[in-house]
Amino acid sequence: MKVRFLGTAAGGGAPQWNCGCRVCEGARAAGVSRTQDSVAVSGDGHAWYLVNASPDLRAQLLATPELRPPAGTRDVPIRGVLFTSAELDHTLGLLSLREAAELDVYATEWVHEALTTAFPLQAVLSGYTRVRRHDVRDGESIELIGGLRVTATVLSAKRPRYAGALAPGDSVCAYRFDAEGRSFVYAPGLAAWSPEFEKAIAGADVVALDGTFFTEDEMGATRPASGMGHLAVREQLPLIEAHPGPRYLFTHLNNTSPLVLPDTPELAEVVAAGADVAADGLLLEL
Ligand SMILES: [Zn+2]
Repeated sequence: MKVRFLGTAAGGGAPQWNCGCRVCEGARAAGVSRTQDSVAVSGDGHAWYLVNASPDLRAQLLATPELRPPAGTRDVPIRGVLFTSAELDHTLGLLSLREAAELDVYATEWVHEALTTAFPLQAVLSGYTRVRRHDVRDGESIELIGGLRVTATVLSAKRPRYAGALAPGDSVCAYRFDAEGRSFVYAPGLAAWSPEFEKAIAGADVVALDGTFFTEDEMGATRPASGMGHLAVREQLPLIEAHPGPRYLFTHLNNTSPLVLPDTPELAEVVAAGADVAADGLLLEL
């Protein structure tokens, strides 16, 4: 199995265009840029699946050699797109794939519903390409091309701000990919280490965790991380230490997180707990 991290920031990227906070200023000074979260996963190194399609997708694809079309063709090896949520930073990039001959889109029924009603992305796209909808369900596995099997675990009912009028449902999930005895879990929106999540990561080789906020009060006391569906990194560190085995990598970093920057005391805390932070372009071969 191969896993390529295309982007490792939360919505807005890091630095964020309109933000002059300490972290964004530090990132500009250090030349650090993290694009919005997405990974590409392949079971055989030929057929690839995108998990999330961020507004930065075009630049991410151009920077990723294995996702280019073979010379003289338009046969890009992307066989589908899976959504962990209907958030804009996870879905807007689908519009940038409208030149595709067809698109296979995997998401929960709730996410498909949000993307056909509150934000009619799939209706807009259908004017350009053929979109095939695939429903994923909590705990159910789907066979993908290239010897890859994916299993969704619903994590929370957090809704995007544009979809507040929709009834809550299975709006945020993690995916576990299995191929040839190796496994990778992608969970950029993790509200809690629930028993279901612990089952999803059991025996996994690599687990990508929610690194949105380093601390619960990073956005101020009135906007706690938990209120936005994210378990703070510092609260996950003891859980990591209590669940040894997988390699743990944090991704989906908000521009306020000190983990955006290299060589911080907060990164040292993460490393001391046995985890690390993913970087844009990181390639894992499991
Ligand atoms: Zn900032």
